[in-house]
Amino acid sequence: MRRITLARRPQGMPVPQDFALDTAPLPNPAEGEVLVAVEWLSLDPYMRGRMDDVRSYAPSVGLGEVMTGQGTGRVLASRAPGFAAGDQVTGITGWASHAVLPAPGLRKLDAGLPPSTALGVLGMPGFTAWTGLREYGRPKAGETLVVGAATGPVGSLVGQLARAAGLRTVAVAGGPEKCRLATETFGFDAAIDHRAHDDASSLRKALAQAAPDGVDIYWENVGGKTLEAVLPLMNTHGRIPVCGTIAWYGGADGAQDRLPMAWRAILVKRLHVHGFIIFDHWQHFPEFLADMAPKVAAGEIAFLEDVADGLENAPEAFIGLLQGRNRGKQLVRV
Ligand code: NDP
Repeated sequence: MRRITLARRPQGMPVPQDFALDTAPLPNPAEGEVLVAVEWLSLDPYMRGRMDDVRSYAPSVGLGEVMTGQGTGRVLASRAPGFAAGDQVTGITGWASHAVLPAPGLRKLDAGLPPSTALGVLGMPGFTAWTGLREYGRPKAGETLVVGAATGPVGSLVGQLARAAGLRTVAVAGGPEKCRLATETFGFDAAIDHRAHDDASSLRKALAQAAPDGVDIYWENVGGKTLEAVLPLMNTHGRIPVCGTIAWYGGADGAQDRLPMAWRAILVKRLHVHGFIIFDHWQHFPEFLADMAPKVAAGEIAFLEDVADGLENAPEAFIGLLQGRNRGKQLVRV
């Protein structure tokens, strides 16, 4: 089997030399386990955090270990009741062509939907958008929502769900093409290109025009300049589901200097700022699937997939994701 391991810990933005491609003998499943040939691998921003040796909500990847990640694939051999050769499944396969997984960590996929959707719109990122908006965004018709990384799998579903709930939706995205995707494909009412604004005050002016009644929900995907631009535009009792801060995954760029401004905005506007990690919410996953899978199957929800071909290209695609080169959910066709 082929696999990609962590060769060294990155300094800031990862580079290809931080990863190594190697081969290992095909493992045999023990009692209760299943051997899977991985077909699709998901690349997600959280993987950057797993490359650091720091305490977090999940363990780091060790040096020389296979990079962690969710995949889908076909069962080759099963020693677990309920799974048979040929089944399409998803689980934590890692960045590898094959994986032996214990049955409790596997889920069989609905044959009526493309397997790749289990990693994006109907997987962890889609579930993050659905849960976080419901629990912490608490949208009300007539309000305004702003979200960064708006054409990615989390942001694009946040925008569509908010719009369906009757909100004005404003996308922040990188570059004119992504802004066009935000409005034309994902139905945002307005889109602002953060790359066209050198600083937060210029970005804030553009956002203030796009959100003339202020911002009731800022869905935090990115941190950085976008957060700094939005905070003064928040309405009293606004909500900020804190989902991710990708602008700072490679370092905090002196943002601590603006901490007093941020803290004061939270106080004065009585903001509800709520961090969440989707792993705490898995008990609602069946409810999410029951709600969203028929809508996706009926074509009522738009989603985009960006496919890199070949496991060996996963590191480049991952670096591209952190730099915003992806157009929609970043996948690897293993
Ligand atoms: P995306 O596919 O949207 O990819 C990340 C995007 O972030 C890039 O395409 C880029 O979009 C944007 N980005 C990168 N750098 C910057 C920057 N400096 N400033 C602004 N935007 C930037 O990712 P996902 O939809 O998978 O994830 C979105 C966020 O949600 C991430 O922060 C992720 O960590 C978080 N997340 C959190 C979860 C949780 O449990 N809390 C679960 C899942 C995801 P663009 O070119 O448009 O700027």
